[in-house]
Amino acid sequence: MSNKHRGLLFVVSSPSGAGKTTLCTRLRGEYAQLRFSVSYTTRSPRPGEVDGREYFFVDPATFTEMVTGDEFAEYALVHGNTYGTSAALVSEALASGIDLLFDIDYQGGRQLKAKFPGDVVLVFILPPSLAELERRLRSRNTDAPEVIERRLRVARDELRHYKEYDYIIVNDDLDRAYDVLRAVYVAETVRCARQAPAAEAVLSGQQILDMGVRPPREVG
Ligand code: ADP
Ligand code: 5GP
Repeated sequence: MSNKHRGLLFVVSSPSGAGKTTLCTRLRGEYAQLRFSVSYTTRSPRPGEVDGREYFFVDPATFTEMVTGDEFAEYALVHGNTYGTSAALVSEALASGIDLLFDIDYQGGRQLKAKFPGDVVLVFILPPSLAELERRLRSRNTDAPEVIERRLRVARDELRHYKEYDYIIVNDDLDRAYDVLRAVYVAETVRCARQAPAAEAVLSGQQILDMGVRPPREVG
C-alpha cells in the first residue's frame, strides 16, 4: 500500500530485572502491528522457551557462518553468549511499514542506530534503584543465586550507557512506566518523516487507508 507509514525500529534495553520484558509484552499486546524481532542466539533455551518464539537457538558454528554471510543487522557478545538480529527481517519490516520491537542490549542498539539512523528509536528502562533491581531479580525466581550476582555486576556497566539512548523511562510504578512507554511509541510513529507517505497520498487525491498506529485494543 503506497501510503503506509515507514516502519519503526523500536529498541528497548535495560539491565536484566528492570522490567523490560513486562513492559514490552504489554505494548505488544496492545498494538498488533508491533512485531517482535526474534533474535538468533548461541545460548541454550531456558525451560519454557520455544525455538522461533523467544529466540532462534543455533550452535556457535551456525552463528559464525551467519556472521560471515553478512546475515546480521547487528550482533554482540552478551553475558558470554552471542546474539544477533536478522538483517533480512529488518529490511523487510522497513520496506513494508512494519514496526519492529527489539529486546537487545546497548551494543546492538548502537549498531542499529549507526546503520539506520532515521529509523531507530532507543529506549532505556531504568530501575528506580540498584537495591530494587536486586529485589526484582530475586523475586522473579528464574535465576540461580550466582546468575543473579553476575547480572547485578553487569547491570552497573549496562547502566553507564544510558547516554546513548533517546529516551529513559524509570520503571518505578509499572502502570506509570507503561503509560510513558506507550506515549513514546505512539509519538514516534507519527513523526513527520514516517508519515510523509500519508501526507503525499492526501495531496495526490487518495484516501488514507493506513492511519499509522492503531487505537489500543479493548482491554478487559
Ligand atoms: P527484564 O525483562 O528487564 O529482565 P522482567 O520484566 O522480567 O525484567 O521483570 C523482572 C521482575 O520484576 C518480574 O518479576 C516482574 O514481574 C517485576 N517487575 C517488573 N516491573 C515492575 C515494577 N514496576 N514494580 C515491581 N515489580 C516489577
Ligand atoms: P537473555 O539471554 O536473558 O534472553 O538476554 C540477555 C541479553 O541479551 C539481554 O540484555 C538482551 O537484551 C540481549 N539480547 C537479546 N537478543 C539480542 C540481539 O539480537 N542482539 C543484542 N545485541 N543483544 C541481544
